[in-house]
Amino acid sequence: MNKIAWIGLGQMGVPMARNLAKHGYPVTVYNRTPKSVDMTPCQVADSLHMAVDHADVVFLMLSDGAAVEHVVFGESGAIHALSQGALIVNMSTVGVDETKQFALRAAEHQVEWMDAPVSGSVGPAEAGTLVVLAGGSESAFHRVKPLLATMAKSVHHLGPVGSGAAMKLLVNGMLAATVAAASECMALAEKSGLGRERFLDVLSETGMWSPILAGKRPLWLDDEYHPSFALKHMTKDLALLSRFAVQYSAALPGMTTALTTYLGAQAQDLGDADMAAVFQHLCALAGAEL
Ligand code: NAP
Repeated sequence: MNKIAWIGLGQMGVPMARNLAKHGYPVTVYNRTPKSVDMTPCQVADSLHMAVDHADVVFLMLSDGAAVEHVVFGESGAIHALSQGALIVNMSTVGVDETKQFALRAAEHQVEWMDAPVSGSVGPAEAGTLVVLAGGSESAFHRVKPLLATMAKSVHHLGPVGSGAAMKLLVNGMLAATVAAASECMALAEKSGLGRERFLDVLSETGMWSPILAGKRPLWLDDEYHPSFALKHMTKDLALLSRFAVQYSAALPGMTTALTTYLGAQAQDLGDADMAAVFQHLCALAGAEL
């Protein structure tokens, strides 16, 4: 690899790009909004085109499909500066249908596409212990597997383009439902006088406890929701999961309820807070005072 471009320096992009560069890969990073964060040992490009020019592989870690569309296929998008034979690895969570469309459009420019979204939040991104869920050709996977391994404890090749996106949406459906279910019961614990702390203490001794609940516990106890995973991103993922289910005429009643719950929280201005803030919305619905 002569040059690797990394586009998107949000909560996840910063630690993931750093891990790649720390393993000796020649990484050039770019973010739409200049960042004051130290990205050593990465090179920092002043423009998108400078970042992707002559890159063998371009990683994307952006908010959503609209951001990917704009960055890659927009008027001055990356596709216009990429060399033939380059590979785009989209690690952002976007839809299965969007992913397949992106791959077809990239192929028109002789650029290959791979979806490689991740499970795990900022902590695992910093520790290099994410779970990568990849979709794409065998040859593309073979080409980038060592790069993905610098960020992850496991790297799964799940099938053709779109397979990684599909698995990611299923996994996040579980995450959404788990956090919403705990929040709903905690809201009633508050209202009925048992209290959220005692509820979490008891839950932590049962089989229902999990690392995700342990991670969210301090946020719930302090009512401070600095985002590791913004609630608006979870709403987006549930909407994408619904769209995926529609393609298969598969009813997902629990996931549909979860989408309504997170949308309600977003309507209460909680979109930029951590997803655990869905608890505040459920307290309001339950009439529980915080
Ligand atoms: P984030 O902190 O909100 O960062 C989003 C990034 O996208 C920023 O670099 C932002 O640039 C860029 N961006 C958004 N719109 C853009 C546009 N139109 N043009 C160019 N750049 C644009 O998000 P994140 O938490 O890192 O998550 C990134 C992706 O990973 C999302 O798809 C999310 O669902 C997924 N994910 C997140 C987590 C997590 O725990 N956070 C875990 C797994 C997967 P600016 O700085 O200029 O706004």
